[in-house]
Amino acid sequence: MNRMTLIIDAKSENEAFVRTAVAAFMLQLDPSVEELSDVKTAVSEAVTNAVVHAYPEEKGKITVECETDTNYIKISISDDGVGIADTKKALEPYFTTRPCEERAGLGFTIIRSFMDEFELSSSFGVGTKIVMKKYVA
Ligand code: ATP
Ligand code: MG
Repeated sequence: MNRMTLIIDAKSENEAFVRTAVAAFMLQLDPSVEELSDVKTAVSEAVTNAVVHAYPEEKGKITVECETDTNYIKISISDDGVGIADTKKALEPYFTTRPCEERAGLGFTIIRSFMDEFELSSSFGVGTKIVMKKYVA
């Protein structure tokens, strides 16, 4: 077992850093190019959500926790932002609260298709946390 925690400002310029840092941490599992790419895509969607939705006005932080074991990486991405009023609705494909921007409402759908396990918990006004897991062959 190996663990890593990263706390970083919720800024769009940090999305690439977090994606790359998690990918680098995952390398110890000797993943395939596809497994690595799936995790990078999922991390990217989750961080972008925290930047765009969690902190629309004020500044905030994103906490990224990773845990690896012989055959998986578990990644938790959380924020102390506005939270999600209806998580069931938020998970539906094409649901977005920002239709006027170029949001497709597909972030969670993408994460769920690329990762093996996914869990969303959120409290309105408190924050949001997603935990996801990818098994490596
Ligand atoms: P896309 O990801 O395709 O650009 P999107 O971000 O709107 O569009 P999802 O990533 O699936 O789509 O998220 C669905 C909705 O869930 C968002 O529109 C937003 O209302 C809410 N949401 C997602 N993540 C957060 C978060 N960290 N904090 C608050 N609300 C969130
Ligand atoms: Mg999104």
